[in-house]
Amino acid sequence: MDVSYLLDDLNDAQREAVSAPACNQLILAGAGSGKTRVLVHRIAWLIQVEHVSPHSIMSVTFTNKAAREMRGRLEDLLDGNLLDSNLVGNSRSMWVGTFHGIAHRLLKAHWKILNLPQNFQILDSDDQLRLVKRVCQTLKLDETKWPPRQAQSYINSQKDEGQRPQYIQAGGDPYAVTMLQIYTAYEEICRSGGLVDFGELLLRAHELLLNNPDILQHYQRRFPFILVDEFQDTNTIQYAWLRVLAGNTGCVTAVGDDDQSIYGWRGAKIENIQRFTDDFKQSQTVRLEQNYRSTGLILKAANGVIQNNFGRLGKELRTDAGDGEPLSLYAAFNEHDEARFIVESIQQWVKEGNRYDSIAILYRSNAQSRVLEEALLRENIAYRIYGGQRFYDRLEIKNALSYLRLLVNNNDDTAFERVINTPTRGIGGKTVEQIRLFARQEGCSLWDSAQRMVDEKILTPRASGAVNVFLQLIRQLQVQTLESSLDEQADKVIKQSGLYEFHKNEKGEKGQARAENLEELVNACRAFNPNDLATQTDQEQQEDAPLLVQFLDSASLDAGEGQADEFDDAVQLMTLHSAKGLEFSRVFMAGVEENLFPHRMSADDPERLEEERRLCYVGITRAMVKLTISYAETRRMHGTENFNRVSRFVKEIPSDCISEVRLKTQIQRPLGYNKQSYKKPSNASLQEKGEDSGYYLGQKVTHAMFGDGAITHFEGQENNMRVQVNFVNEGSKWLVLQYANLQAL
Ligand code: ATP
Ligand code: MG
Repeated sequence: MDVSYLLDDLNDAQREAVSAPACNQLILAGAGSGKTRVLVHRIAWLIQVEHVSPHSIMSVTFTNKAAREMRGRLEDLLDGNLLDSNLVGNSRSMWVGTFHGIAHRLLKAHWKILNLPQNFQILDSDDQLRLVKRVCQTLKLDETKWPPRQAQSYINSQKDEGQRPQYIQAGGDPYAVTMLQIYTAYEEICRSGGLVDFGELLLRAHELLLNNPDILQHYQRRFPFILVDEFQDTNTIQYAWLRVLAGNTGCVTAVGDDDQSIYGWRGAKIENIQRFTDDFKQSQTVRLEQNYRSTGLILKAANGVIQNNFGRLGKELRTDAGDGEPLSLYAAFNEHDEARFIVESIQQWVKEGNRYDSIAILYRSNAQSRVLEEALLRENIAYRIYGGQRFYDRLEIKNALSYLRLLVNNNDDTAFERVINTPTRGIGGKTVEQIRLFARQEGCSLWDSAQRMVDEKILTPRASGAVNVFLQLIRQLQVQTLESSLDEQADKVIKQSGLYEFHKNEKGEKGQARAENLEELVNACRAFNPNDLATQTDQEQQEDAPLLVQFLDSASLDAGEGQADEFDDAVQLMTLHSAKGLEFSRVFMAGVEENLFPHRMSADDPERLEEERRLCYVGITRAMVKLTISYAETRRMHGTENFNRVSRFVKEIPSDCISEVRLKTQIQRPLGYNKQSYKKPSNASLQEKGEDSGYYLGQKVTHAMFGDGAITHFEGQENNMRVQVNFVNEGSKWLVLQYANLQAL
């Protein structure tokens, strides 16, 4: 059998990794060196050459999207080349997914032994926060002194470390004592309500294997081959789980790059890479040193930045590609000017014959997207936010899902609380509080509590009537949708609950958008196919879990990743964190300024600063052909005007890699402009046309009503000339120059 196609497009080191005999393997290599590619080829090799059944392979990816992509690439690779065409179909039986997805699948399969309800509910981060708040209230803790968010992150980090409350020693430290108290109470509620947060998925999956030798043995036999991408971002509990599962017989291929570890704040441990060769016996380490993604200058810039970190494992990256174009650096006057510049550059790039989806705009914090989105909308450029305001996180969608959850399980307290009075049906906060109190006293669910309070006439007649209407509604829906398809079910629920009307009637465009989103949810139900999901359950289980349950689970797990329009030709917007593993011909890194990137919370802490630098390295290495970096001299953040300098990371880029985009020379810079010694650019499309007006870009002006500001944009000619001014107190405004009566400062 000719299997050369599995090795043809690989270099020597990659071939060595792909064709290695069954053993533990650590592939340690820099960005764009083909790590993910090696992983996919390795799986194909195992199937094709070693005759390993896809059934025996588990592959762990960092996102569900990456899992889908991996399956797709693998099928492409095997398609037409397999003698046994059944194997392609069989590749579906391979487990590909995130740690969380795989853990969920294990919990679903073994819910009984884990003492979970069969339809246990996954708490996302919002639900979790609400629950923590409730716990704090019950414990009568002052929220200002004990912010629920802090308690939430305490709980999560304990879980990431595999720590259950009973094993934590708080000592006499009052902080630790209180946190532990919250954690203990929180866990109690989760346990009795069958609620599982993200950390719990991992923790339970670990305990499942640890405490049940027969189950462990079953999975060890089933999965002799385990492959993990983005290994540098595994946390303690994921690593521990992997070790248990692999035991002494499993072959683990771990692929990672210490320079791209960017989830330390979520418990990821770079040290896991160093530990790997000790813990996974007889492992061989492969290093890949050739980058196939980026041009020479982009790579040089990335290397220039990352070499400022200490304690790296040390890898060389080189490329055979030419230097390519230098990086561009644009100093914007403010965030609006930055967005405008990016949009113009995008238009130029597309005019040159490129597609929109070859472009990514990366930023440090999610809040930056709004101004960029507005600029794109103004120019009618399609864009997609990857992992940002995600579909399943939107208010109206969560409301609708809560109704669906209640249909599946009346005792789902989180869902119950969310919709008992949404849309408003005259059930006040006080009544809800009474129901809650009664539930606590009686140790029952909110649903049961409400029912009993109605039956036993504990509530006032008015409250009782309103609550009863709600209970009846849910029951009716349960009966009426028994025979419905998933999308009919969703449609009936959003219409009959009044939710659709309620959101549609919200003021302005918001109402419209919310109604559209709800319609989109029905579409999503229609298109739902459990077999498409990386998190699909086994064939046997699929038969007993209702489609609605599977849909709800996949909605919880998929939150945090882009859903819609994956295949449209659109500009991709995302945080630097979400960009990991991806590549784009053209990349914009926006807001590369001190206090934003590195983040102001990290600048003084050497470890966190290094993580920020790795994030910068990740950002730079996403670019294949052209990278543009921008920063704003003034930026409105959290409601105030900030004057930030260019990021230290930009200064770490060797100056011969970068060229500054400047406006025409006669345009003066506002005071405080930080001159850099970069190559002079030539970018005619960016020249500003305000100079005939007597004003110039960046000029400080004052307006009778709006106060002081700076000019950020000119538009139109002569009498029609309009000017955009960013006012210190009023934000950005467009004014007709003729009538604005601006005074130069
Ligand atoms: P990251 O660290 O960003 O996750 P990576 O190491 O996983 O990157 P890949 O995404 O696998 O890198 O590969 C980067 C690019 O280089 C891809 O477009 C891939 O197809 C290409 N590539 C990898 N190896 C080769 C090769 N031997 N010949 C040609 N192209 C290659
Ligand atoms: Mg990769």
